[in-house]
Amino acid sequence: MRKLEEVLQDWEAVIGLEIHAELTTLETKMFCNCKLEFGAEPNTHTCPVCLGLPGALPVPNKAAIESIVLAGLATNCDIEKRTMFYRKNYMYPDMAKNFQTTQGPVAFCMRGHLDLDVDGIAAKERPGALGREVGEAWENAVRTDEGYTAHVGITRIHMEEDAGKMVHVGGGEGRIAGATHSLVDYNRAGTPLIELVTEPDLRTPEEARLFMQKLRQIYLALGISDCSMEEGSLRCDGNVSLRRRGSGKLGVKTELKNMNSFKNLHDGLAYEICRQAEVLEEGGQIYQETRHWDPSAKRTIVMRVKETADDYRLFPEPDLAPYDLTDEFVERVRAKLPELPDARAARFAQTFGLAAYDARHLVEHRSTADFFEACMECAGEDAAALAKPVANLVINDVTAWLNAQKGASLQASPLTPARAVALVRLVSAGELSSKQGKEVFAAVLEEDRDPAAIVEERGMKQVSDAGAIEGVVDAVLAANPDKVEQYRGGKTGLLGFFVGQCMKEMRGQGNPKVINELLAKKLG
Ligand code: ADP
Ligand code: ZN
Ligand code: MG
Repeated sequence: MRKLEEVLQDWEAVIGLEIHAELTTLETKMFCNCKLEFGAEPNTHTCPVCLGLPGALPVPNKAAIESIVLAGLATNCDIEKRTMFYRKNYMYPDMAKNFQTTQGPVAFCMRGHLDLDVDGIAAKERPGALGREVGEAWENAVRTDEGYTAHVGITRIHMEEDAGKMVHVGGGEGRIAGATHSLVDYNRAGTPLIELVTEPDLRTPEEARLFMQKLRQIYLALGISDCSMEEGSLRCDGNVSLRRRGSGKLGVKTELKNMNSFKNLHDGLAYEICRQAEVLEEGGQIYQETRHWDPSAKRTIVMRVKETADDYRLFPEPDLAPYDLTDEFVERVRAKLPELPDARAARFAQTFGLAAYDARHLVEHRSTADFFEACMECAGEDAAALAKPVANLVINDVTAWLNAQKGASLQASPLTPARAVALVRLVSAGELSSKQGKEVFAAVLEEDRDPAAIVEERGMKQVSDAGAIEGVVDAVLAANPDKVEQYRGGKTGLLGFFVGQCMKEMRGQGNPKVINELLAKKLG
């Protein structure tokens, strides 16, 4: 198979996502009062409604509807005032009602969009994106300084409910193949679920990944879901087809399942694009089918040919009246919208004079954004002056630490905003070299102590006093007359050697800037 970059030169990939989010932060299920609790003893949170017993009547959860309206407002959707619930009929043991309650052609949220900032290496996947003028528009994108912005349409967000969970026993890895029997847990049945469907506006696996990340940030900011891809509270199906560059007609798509991490979403789509290109280039045909991405085998395999809407006999739910939202309700929800990541990044850039790129990285995670903001508060009058070094500390060191600690909480860590600011102040004032700064950073986290105490105990203060440094510089130059000769003869690369010697003399505590300046003066 050819590489993705090559394939995308000849073919345009067309991608649309279907993203399910469980509203895990709610207290109760979608149509009954059963408690929502992940990991509870199986079948302890069930009742006649979510078990589909005859005669049980559903009642919509108003808090869930508030959540979906929040999601719609945050993604620029129109909120439909009158909608209906539908039955999607299918027989499978994980859904005791034999149908899933969902929405019909008109969902609570319709016609939204999100703008994606694609930059760095991610921008390279879209052929020709980087060869344009800043501000130039093509297709659904506009060239920016660092990449491009793509406008991605959102078809709808509708309300539905999750099914129960099947556990297959006796087969390999919990698979149904080879299993001797299956168990079913209805605790999850009836969990409120919102499904967002995008227009086929995405063009590269990177864009798909960024869309998913951005949506996750928004949902987390709204507080409507814990968005755990590992635990399945955020799930994504990727639809993808190819067409020749320049063709306006959509090709036949396949749908990928099991993209339970950002990496899987990217890699599964990348593989599928290359596979489709190979089939088409060999004169073959793509069939509309559902495929499973197997990350360890690095390929997609057919699960089933696509069922059509007819197979589900979708019809209006007779047990639920049409749902009418009042203007007042929608406005009340709108008033609850928190500051969203894009707005927060813009505010950081504006208030603290940060580059757009840095601001965007800070808001990628709510915890790092909150931390940065707390640091700025601690910095008081110096906030603007310290913003850039604090941002660097958060984006580089703190993020690396969080990644290494998998799941650790920054807010509960020994690195308080006050300590972070104290550390940045020491480095900015030249009292610590940046290398020493990294050492103190690690020590704060390890020893749970203030930077000043660590610096004191380790005798780490950087020496910036020109008088003290001058003595060392003179001694180093006197000890290496041959090298001084060579330097003056044009071997200026020796400067690094002299700096190194001075540093060694000063046990790493000399201020490199002062050393460099003095050496330049004396050698020049
Ligand atoms: P289906 O009827 O197969 O469920 P939908 O029209 O409901 O298809 O679309 C499902 C998802 O697939 C949407 O995200 C949509 O943008 C995307 N999609 C539709 N047609 C194509 C296509 N030809 N290529 C890629 N994605 C597509
Ligand atoms: Zn119930
Ligand atoms: Mg569909």
